[in-house]
Amino acid sequence: MKTYYPIIGLEIHAELNTKSKMFCACKNDPDETTPNVNICPICMAHPGTLPVANKQAIESVIKVGLALGSTIADFTEFDRKNYFYPDIPKGYQISQYKYPIVSGGTLNGFGITRIHLEEDTGLSKHDRGNFTLVDYNRAGVPLMELVTEPVIHSAKDAADFAKELQLLLRTLGVSEANLEKGEMRVEPNISISDKEGVFGTKVEVKNLNSFKSVEKAIEYELSRMQALYEAGRQDEIVQETRGWDEAKQTTFSQRSKENAHDYRYFPDPDLPKMQLHSAFDIDAMKNALPELPNAKRSRYANDFGIKANDIELYVTDPTLSAYFESVVEGKDATFAQLASNYLSSDVLGLMKKDTEAQLPKKELFIELISMAANGEITSRGAKDILAVIVKENQSPKAIAEKEGLLQQNNEDDLKPIIQQVITDNAAMVTQYKEGKEVVLQALVGMVMKATKGSANPVIAAKLLKELM
Ligand code: ADP
Ligand code: MG
Ligand code: ZN
Repeated sequence: MKTYYPIIGLEIHAELNTKSKMFCACKNDPDETTPNVNICPICMAHPGTLPVANKQAIESVIKVGLALGSTIADFTEFDRKNYFYPDIPKGYQISQYKYPIVSGGTLNGFGITRIHLEEDTGLSKHDRGNFTLVDYNRAGVPLMELVTEPVIHSAKDAADFAKELQLLLRTLGVSEANLEKGEMRVEPNISISDKEGVFGTKVEVKNLNSFKSVEKAIEYELSRMQALYEAGRQDEIVQETRGWDEAKQTTFSQRSKENAHDYRYFPDPDLPKMQLHSAFDIDAMKNALPELPNAKRSRYANDFGIKANDIELYVTDPTLSAYFESVVEGKDATFAQLASNYLSSDVLGLMKKDTEAQLPKKELFIELISMAANGEITSRGAKDILAVIVKENQSPKAIAEKEGLLQQNNEDDLKPIIQQVITDNAAMVTQYKEGKEVVLQALVGMVMKATKGSANPVIAAKLLKELM
């Protein structure tokens, strides 16, 4: 079979979580459900109004660029992208063309072309009958657009790139970046070719509202294109925008693609040109960035040596990682690993099952992990205690004493019980002495039963051998 070379480039939009809109003082509130309340003459494009650029939005884009190792432009400006649509009241969108705020940089090893700032459009509601309604609350909300180089070669890598960008935007605190809510929109450009290094005709896919759909849509497009190649009909692949049908899990043709010159971009005369390196202290902004996901991953691996899956939990959940770090502060790696195991599997499991369960009070969790680390309780006992302390502030020690969960490590206390088990199970003892080693486990089981699970099984096995 022939080899095909998939090429994918991503265009990703993210709404910035500034207080106000990009060019006016209207509230930027993605959760506002009443239509057309966060609007004013500026974002409604009434004649004679003038836009004023939102400094926080520009700052956010610079932060993203700094986090990606990109170049922050000195000179930058806003352009008008002209087109007509009811959701774009001015008849043009304020965007950036020649001089984006950010260029270059990488994420997950894939090159980034640029990141620019623009304004979001209103939201058309086509689902109300024979007419369309437009909600302009979203019109003028700051939107960053990141464009990658055409250097991604698989659907999985493309989806992973988008996930990592979401994590970065959240870590920087510049966007909530929920795909489901349209706060982040991933538009893959896809082509295949039968010659390495030669690009085929690309299509762009829109309406993807989950990472799963991003991956599925790219896979679907790649196999659609490959089938056309194999049938010798590759000239039927045309440059176009395609939609994603979630129900059918297929893409469909929406419209043929416009070219940049169709938009007649030109610098917006109502907005000032900007010198970013004079307007902002870029070095100070770089130093003030929070710990980025990759730095956190390495720190957790080096300092605590915990499992990669657990590390991802902390990297994506700041509340959980702050809790974990407060628990393991001043403790060794063994303690940290034990704490992480109980936290990631047991505590989170309990919280998932029961909405009233919460992260246990830090002191209680530390006490519990210390007891488990010292062999004072069995892992069974630790789980039972956890189930209590995710709901109530009770001392793990007190619970262990009350419920008989303290592990019996004292040999003198265990000896008479073990002697009794040996006397009561003479036949098994004979079998063991004749060389049937597995019987030992059964005898340990008897000791556990006799002590209601509180005997330390390692010590029980050792004493059994000695006393037999
Ligand atoms: P357009 O002007 O059509 O929007 P751009 O040059 O702006 O095209 O690129 C848009 C996106 O498409 C970028 O992410 C780019 O990496 C990607 N891209 C460009 N050419 C191809 C191709 N042949 N196959 C897949 N992706 C491509
Ligand atoms: Mg483009
Ligand atoms: Zn407004």
